[in-house]
Amino acid sequence: MHSQDTLDPSDWQAFRAQAHTMLDDMLDYTEQLRQRPVWQAAPTEIRARFCQTLPHAPTPLEQLHKRFMTEIAPYVIGNAHPGFMGWVQGGGTPTGMIAEMLTAGLNANVGGRNQIPLAVEQQILHWMRELFGFPASAGGLFVTGTSIANFIAVLIARTTQLGTTVRRDGLNTNGLQHLTAYTSAGAHGCVSQAMDMAGFGTAALRQIPMNASYQIDQQALTTAILADRQAGLQPFLVIGSAGTVDVGAIDDLTALAKIAQQEQLWFHIDGAYGALGMLSPAIAPRLRGIELADSIAFDFHKWGQVPYDAGYILVRDQAKQLDTFSAPASYLKREQQGMAAGSPWPCDMGPDLSRGFRALKTWFTIATFGADKLGRIIENTCELAQYLKQHIEAESRLELLAPVNLNIVCFRFLGSSEQQLDQLNSDLVIALQESGIAAPSSTTVNQQFAIRVAIVNHRTNRSDIDKLIEATLRLGDALATHPGSTTRSSS
Ligand SMILES: *Cc1c(COP(=O)(O)O)cnc(C)c1O
Repeated sequence: MHSQDTLDPSDWQAFRAQAHTMLDDMLDYTEQLRQRPVWQAAPTEIRARFCQTLPHAPTPLEQLHKRFMTEIAPYVIGNAHPGFMGWVQGGGTPTGMIAEMLTAGLNANVGGRNQIPLAVEQQILHWMRELFGFPASAGGLFVTGTSIANFIAVLIARTTQLGTTVRRDGLNTNGLQHLTAYTSAGAHGCVSQAMDMAGFGTAALRQIPMNASYQIDQQALTTAILADRQAGLQPFLVIGSAGTVDVGAIDDLTALAKIAQQEQLWFHIDGAYGALGMLSPAIAPRLRGIELADSIAFDFHKWGQVPYDAGYILVRDQAKQLDTFSAPASYLKREQQGMAAGSPWPCDMGPDLSRGFRALKTWFTIATFGADKLGRIIENTCELAQYLKQHIEAESRLELLAPVNLNIVCFRFLGSSEQQLDQLNSDLVIALQESGIAAPSSTTVNQQFAIRVAIVNHRTNRSDIDKLIEATLRLGDALATHPGSTTRSSS
């Protein structure tokens, strides 16, 4: 190794020119998203180009960028595209993209220490306390996503229930393995996974039936809690949903808070995408009771349109979060001055030590657009869902399968005979995805296969919904007449 070897450019001027090209290409890509297919399957030849051996020699940046533009960018899942309606995924913004570039430029590690990036993260905490009506004692932490935020909440609930000795003794100590948690049958799969990862096992999560509005059935919930207590088990946690993935249902959060209080359970809310509905005056009233939660998990990368990833956990009592994750000796003994001042640190409030500066792109996004505009964007996705619902109800070939609560619409195409509808609609979803026009996904509603449309992207407008309906009817008709005609994958 030569002493002057670094990874910085040897010719800054040439690098700058190349960097500007790359930036322009990405801005063009974003500006012209609508002209591309939502999604296209990558050809085998392209896939094969990513099976090379370790490159020992350098490759010019220009050449790699060409590969990026032709071999990577065209074959993403397409959630930035306005026609993407498959899953609950945000669209991102050019502002967020530039903020990510600034973040990478700083290369800040925000696990802790004395630096303003932590103040930016605190700024987001202030905003979130205000938005959710949480007290000044509340703590918050950026994480990858709601899956991890839910997991952290389960651990905090555990420590609160069992005391900090559980961190040393684990769950093996006599009697402690009988903790039970409660959520609705419509809860996201990651809630069950969180119970698994926390060592309770998925069987310790009671999946309570839903009522006709797809909310947790409160009567069934209290009955289940009582039955578990009578069986000698220890209920410790109830997890409400603020926007379920299948139909966008919001549990009666005030009622859940009351049950949690009476039963002395930790009250956590999975508000992965729905919680930021608080930004909209029209949706906020439907989230009433969210201010009573002990913790809320949500994502800025869904309805908040912040580029991936930006999950968040907000905890009413930060002390409980510290009890769960800090090594007390280390954070109390930290310096008062110098680079190691400013405790507690983010690394005292979650499992990560090194962590990226997710707060910056979130700060830029909330501040450039303003909370009100983000609220209107969120509201707009719900209005588009209503627009789609009206079209479905007016069209005899389409049938609505679930109430449209927020931004998610479940429906199906009515073709030939009843028994073939599941297969027909399954083929239709694939045909739509392969068409590149619109990308819905699927789910099961009341044992029926449903086409599921989740409108999250700020770029989606009425013309995209019109295109979806037009393509659904056209491809549906074709499939009903000639099964398998439009899709390679059906069998
Ligand atoms: C998306 C989602 C999750 C998972 O969040 P990630 O950010 O993907 O980890 C959990 N719950 C609900 C309701 C969701 O919509």
